[in-house]
Order: sequence, then structure tokens, then C-alpha cells
Amino acid sequence: MILPKFTGSREEQARDVAEALVGLFGEAREEAKPSGYVGGRQEAMEALGKFRVGGYAGSRNKLGGGVSRLSFYIRHGVLGIREVAESVRERFGKSFDSVKFWQELGWRQFWRHLYGQLGDGIYVDREVSKVPLGNGAETDLPKEITEGRTGLVCMDETVRELVETGYIHNHARMWFASFVIHFRKLGWKAGERFFYQHLLDGDPASNALSWQWVASTFSHRAYLFNRENIQENGGMEWCARCTAKCPFDATYPELERRHFTK
Ligand SMILES: Cc1cc2nc3c(=O)[nH]c(=O)nc-3n(C[C@H](O)[C@H](O)[C@H](O)COP(=O)(O)OP(=O)(O)OC[C@H]3O[C@@H](n4cnc5c(N)ncnc54)[C@H](O)[C@@H]3O)c2cc1C
Repeated sequence: MILPKFTGSREEQARDVAEALVGLFGEAREEAKPSGYVGGRQEAMEALGKFRVGGYAGSRNKLGGGVSRLSFYIRHGVLGIREVAESVRERFGKSFDSVKFWQELGWRQFWRHLYGQLGDGIYVDREVSKVPLGNGAETDLPKEITEGRTGLVCMDETVRELVETGYIHNHARMWFASFVIHFRKLGWKAGERFFYQHLLDGDPASNALSWQWVASTFSHRAYLFNRENIQENGGMEWCARCTAKCPFDATYPELERRHFTK
């Protein structure tokens, strides 16, 4: 089937794409809502020009912090890593915040180089895990998780935002991955697939190797979080609305005892 050339407003294009998908797959796969993020070189240059690195180091871990949201453009080659790094250097110089930002760009570059070397090896455990993991047999996450019905507002809201917008903050990615792998003992590959399906910046290397980093199959220790960590980094409002018995409300030694002792 030859796809038509999509024209008209973003809403019209989204509707036409959905109809074309019905033609291809026999059913509408997703609700036809255009993403709030707009692609293209001009938009990418505008987003880069608007980004201010001041305060980045101190606020990047907070949900509402001063992150760039440039990952879609970088992922799809609309902006080059060097171009982004140089724009920051030219406009803001070599500050503490600039260096932190370059380090994050460095992670992306590092994952990309590894992908060049490993190919599909990124989908294989790179190291023996440092803590007990589930058997990793699942190919999909349970629907209760992917449909945001766990009752844990922090996780359900993360899923809603991911599915509706195609973007979630780095810390939310880490919390969700840790929840899947360490609290629910599900395999990192099922989580990796779910993210890749929905992230607009979905990138084989950054995604698979970050999931492995959380799992501890590509890092020296597993990534675990607790309720205090969520609250300190902008998730207070989630907790205020949550009526579930919180599995994250404990000290790190206690969580390690619960989840990492055989
Ligand atoms: C489980 C998990 C899955 C992830 N999957 C992806 C993915 O599929 N695609 C993707 O681009 N990033 C992924 N990341 C990394 C990171 O979350 C995003 O790059 C970042 O949140 C994008 O938002 P930003 O552009 O505002 O980042 P900023 O904080 O503004 O960082 C600037 C740029 O640096 C790069 N960067 C920042 N943090 C990281 C990181 N930890 N690893 C690699 N590159 C980084 C990105 O290109 C980003 O655009 C993942 C992280 C985790 C924990």
C-alpha cells in the first residue's frame, strides 16, 4: 500500500495517519492525537536557541528542572551533538553547568559508540547482575502497568505522560525502570520495548543500555529509589494524591533487604 502525502493541519494529518494505519493493520492502533512536540530543523534551532544552561547542574534531576528537551532532535539527527555542545560553549562559556550538560551529551555519545561496536549485543546482558533479578522471560509488561492501573500515582502518571506525549524526564525514566526491574522483578527487556514503543527520542543504544544500567547488568550497582527521593525531586504532588500502600516508603537498607536478598 502506498501511503498518501499527508497535508493540512497537524490534527488533520494525525487523523489521516490513523486512517492509513487502519488500512495497513485493520484497526486503529492509537488515538489520533498529534504530539505536542514539533519536528524540523527550524523548530530544533529555535529550541536550541531558547535553551539556557544556567542552573542545569543543580536542577536537572528535578521533574520541573531546567533540562533542554532536545533529545528528539538529537536522536533523529536534526541537531548534531557537537553543534549542541558548541552552541552552549559559545553562548555560556565553560561553566560548571556547561560541563555537566556536556557530560550528559557524552553519555549519549558513549552509548552510541558502544552500539557501533556491539550491534544487537546491546540487547544481551553485558555483565552478570550485581543483585538478584527476575528471570526476564516476559516479552511484554503486564497491562496493569502499561495502562497505568497500578494504583501508584507516580508510576501511573509516568505511563500516562509517556504514552500521551512521547517524553518523560530522565528521573521518571530511572524510577519507572527501577520499579519494573527491582520492585516487580520483571525483565528489563520488556520495559525497554515499552519505552522504545512510546518515546519520541527512543534510541536503541541510549534506551537498552540505560535499562541495563538500572538493572546492574551494565553498572557496578543496581539503581534503587525510595519515596523520599521521588518527593525531593518534584513528585510531592503525586504522593499527595496517592492512596495506595507505598512500596517505596522505606530506607535504602530496608529496600535492599526486601528486594536484593535471595
Ligand atoms: C531507562 C532509561 C531509558 C532511556 N531511554 C532513552 C532513549 O531512548 N533515548 C534517549 O535519547 N535518551 C534516553 N535516556 C536518557 C535520558 O533520559 C534522556 O536522554 C533525557 O531525559 C532527554 O531529555 P533532555 O533532552 O531534556 O535531556 P538533557 O538533560 O537536556 O540532556 C541533554 C542531552 O544529553 C543526552 N542525555 C542526557 N541524559 C542522558 C543519559 N542519561 N543517557 C544518554 N544521553 C543522555 C540527550 O541527548 C539529551 O537530549 C534514557 C534514560 C533511562 C534512565
